[in-house]
Amino acid sequence: MDCLFCKIIDGEIPSNKVYEDDMMLAFRDINPQAPEHIVIVPKCHIASANEINAENVKYVAAIWEKIPQIASELGFAENGYRVVNNCGEDGGQTVPHLHFHLMGGKKFTDL
Ligand code: 5GP
Ligand code: ZN
Repeated sequence: MDCLFCKIIDGEIPSNKVYEDDMMLAFRDINPQAPEHIVIVPKCHIASANEINAENVKYVAAIWEKIPQIASELGFAENGYRVVNNCGEDGGQTVPHLHFHLMGGKKFTDL
């Protein structure tokens, strides 16, 4: 499949990995919008939040379970952080493989 994040998961395209298990890969965003900007992707091609269903929601649950741990290991959990999912064209999604932006290391002021 011609999917950038599937290629990153498969190691075809290198990434700066911060966490990996059988459900997800977390790596540094190539164009960070905060001092810490991690992209977390399920190891299952889900095109967007619109494609989450009863069968694949376990990947989403696993990611959310790990988010505090990843933030803690990177040292910004205590100060707080922001998690963003962009869905579809109006949501600003540019890579059609579900992902969560985990951002920290600064104080976010706008929504
Ligand atoms: P979206 O705009 O779809 O919500 O987020 C896609 C994110 O993937 C963007 O923040 C973009 O900087 C990041 N990105 C795009 N291509 C690559 C890449 O090849 N490597 C990494 N590490 N991040 C990428
Ligand atoms: Zn994919």
